[in-house]
Amino acid sequence: MKNLTILGSTGSIGVSTLDVVKAYPDMFRVVALTAGNNLELLKTQIETFRPNLVSVLTAEKAQALSRSLTGKKPEIMHGVEGMIAAATASETTMVVAAIVGAAGLVPTTAAIMAGKDVALANKETLVTAGHLVMQMVREKKVKLYPVDSEHCAVFQSMAGHRSQDISRVILTASGGPFLNWGREKLQAATVADALNHPNWSMGRKITVDSATMMNKGLEVIEARWLFDIPVQRIGVNIHPQSIIHSMVEYVDGSVMAQLGTPDMKGPIAYALTYPGRVPSGVKALDLTALSGLTFFKPDTDRFPALQLAYRAADAGESMPAVMNAANEIAVEAFLGGRIGFMAIAEAIEKVMDLHEPHTLASIEEVLEADRWGRRTAKEVLGVGC
Ligand code: NAD
Ligand code: MG
Repeated sequence: MKNLTILGSTGSIGVSTLDVVKAYPDMFRVVALTAGNNLELLKTQIETFRPNLVSVLTAEKAQALSRSLTGKKPEIMHGVEGMIAAATASETTMVVAAIVGAAGLVPTTAAIMAGKDVALANKETLVTAGHLVMQMVREKKVKLYPVDSEHCAVFQSMAGHRSQDISRVILTASGGPFLNWGREKLQAATVADALNHPNWSMGRKITVDSATMMNKGLEVIEARWLFDIPVQRIGVNIHPQSIIHSMVEYVDGSVMAQLGTPDMKGPIAYALTYPGRVPSGVKALDLTALSGLTFFKPDTDRFPALQLAYRAADAGESMPAVMNAANEIAVEAFLGGRIGFMAIAEAIEKVMDLHEPHTLASIEEVLEADRWGRRTAKEVLGVGC
């Protein structure tokens, strides 16, 4: 029996995780859940999974949740303290890190420090603090399973092989909704256009990241830390069908790939049941029903965010955390209708130009770099501080 904490249980990954968990009551027990604003859904999840502990964003929301529950209630906490309590709950053996953004960093690292295995969807944890997080993983001897579909594919394509024989990792990218849009059209892209992803149904922030291709940039940095491979040997192929989820090329020219119908329940189930496999609810892949699999190079002129991520990875130190923070602010401004689509990458670049990278020796220093990136992005964009 695995005892789970799910950080971000009301999000896209959180809901898919609970779908998998629900199908295997003999394998999983839900100990703790955390959510942001969606109290309605959290209430339903509490009634279905009966966790001991839940946490929401604020004291007001905690009170509102408590009032809405009847019968035996879980302990209800709030804020960062509540997320840390959920991540470190003594009964928990595995934490599913599915909060979006740098807000996931503190609870995820708290889980690692408490000796919990982690199924990691929250890529921003590795983007902002990869060197510290991987050091903690080694020190605490915990397992870190990738939930991101590309990294799950790389992980599976590395199984049974020696890492010194890898020549390249190739992450695939769908290209998002704007794959074939020209620069001029992109300038006028609306929020609805950006949220209209062709292959994946995900939270709003990562869907916009997919449209700018910053998502793939974040994933390059995530792969660098997860698999200890220099970014120069991590490439990106556009593959609009999202059937090959990523590949590993070996020195002898062999390429191992993992394929499947695009559905996050696959990587989630694999992280939860590794090294075993269970039916995950993912539709079987019928290659004969597809009209073809295509691949091409990303266009960094129309999608400059991908190149910015490589630049941040090269600069290292505090630069990826600052880039990530600027991206979060710019995406929020775009979703709020305050800036245009192309202004997202422009703002990130300006913030990076203003940043002098420095060493990050602790999570507190990462959070300070994150705050600097957010403040500077708001100044650059002229949106409220
Ligand atoms: P989402 O927006 O659907 O859900 C995010 C969850 O985090 C929600 O439960 C929300 O309430 C909570 N949350 C948001 N802000 C918070 C804050 N400040 N403090 C505490 N909780 C907060 O996001 P998602 O699409 O499920 O993505 C979650 C993470 O997984 C992201 O890092 C994303 O990049 C990664 N990921 C998602 C997918 C996908 O298919 N959705 C695929 C790969 C990786
Ligand atoms: Mg991904």
